[in-house]
Amino acid sequence: MPNPEFFDDKSDEGWYISRTNDLYVETLNFILYHETSHAEFEHIRKISASNLSSEKQKELELEADTRAIELMISKNRNQNVTELSIIVGLASILFFKNNLSGGQKHPDIDSRLENAIQILKLRDDSSVWSMLCLFIKEWSMRFSLNVNDKGSYKNYKELYYKLMSQVKNCC
Ligand SMILES: [Zn+2]
Repeated sequence: MPNPEFFDDKSDEGWYISRTNDLYVETLNFILYHETSHAEFEHIRKISASNLSSEKQKELELEADTRAIELMISKNRNQNVTELSIIVGLASILFFKNNLSGGQKHPDIDSRLENAIQILKLRDDSSVWSMLCLFIKEWSMRFSLNVNDKGSYKNYKELYYKLMSQVKNCC
């Protein structure tokens, strides 16, 4: 693998390394914004003071996601980088296990992705849909989920929901 710290920015390989580093940093920004949003809304105090139910705690997680997405948008960076870094941050959670469940405290991963998709108002031809399909395919291969992408579809958005509906039925 190429060294992401020492490389020739003018080479083809360097171009990709710069983009990858940029996306990595923005994805971390999104995750940090999620955590600082918990602090901003005093979620930890609310959870311990009110002994919140599992469902209520999941709502707080979505609230932190929503705030983090708003903060990312307010930075006014390249729209595509912003969208991609948020989706990469959320879709990466898939690789921790072979199902969509967020457990007792976190919403299911498909709900968190859908929340982001709705806020970002992704265009039908956004390249983010193809990334989402790639994530599901890679995840499916990693855990032998046998997600089937055969058949016809008019765009990657349609394929994403087709793949996701299979995953929801099996995982
Ligand atoms: Zn959280």
